[in-house]
Amino acid sequence: MYALPSPSRTELLAELTAQATALSQIPNIEQLSVVHPPLEPLALPFSASLTALALFGWHLGGKTAPTALDSTLLSCDCCGRRLGLWSFTASPGRSLDVRAEHRAFCAYLATDVEGRPAWQARLQTASGKRQAGEENAQVRKLRRSEVLGKVRGMLGE
Ligand SMILES: [Zn+2]
Repeated sequence: MYALPSPSRTELLAELTAQATALSQIPNIEQLSVVHPPLEPLALPFSASLTALALFGWHLGGKTAPTALDSTLLSCDCCGRRLGLWSFTASPGRSLDVRAEHRAFCAYLATDVEGRPAWQARLQTASGKRQAGEENAQVRKLRRSEVLGKVRGMLGE
């Protein structure tokens, strides 16, 4: 299965910024109702909707010609899903779910060995949060020193 690349934080922030900037050019994009998981602590200078769309790999789609982008379509390069924006903006109450709109096999939804979906790994990288593995190691180290402290206390050291 196709796996997403693991960019550095700088690379990923550049990618998200470029993608969100392109999306922000879509007419009436801010009227689109976007459903997404919490994005904290990621804070980009874009609306949460644009940030979520970029994080989940949705970009301006329909590359009908190298220079002409169809600004009525969003697409995902991983699963090939295309979304017609009109179908959301034309139906009041219809929201675009950045996660659920991917096809089930999409690499953005695929989980790593720790059961973490790829989009979440991107969120953690982009927000500068430590990788889950490193955090667990920190927690283990902390617990060990706490235990040692208690043992020392009991021994009256
Ligand atoms: Zn996808």
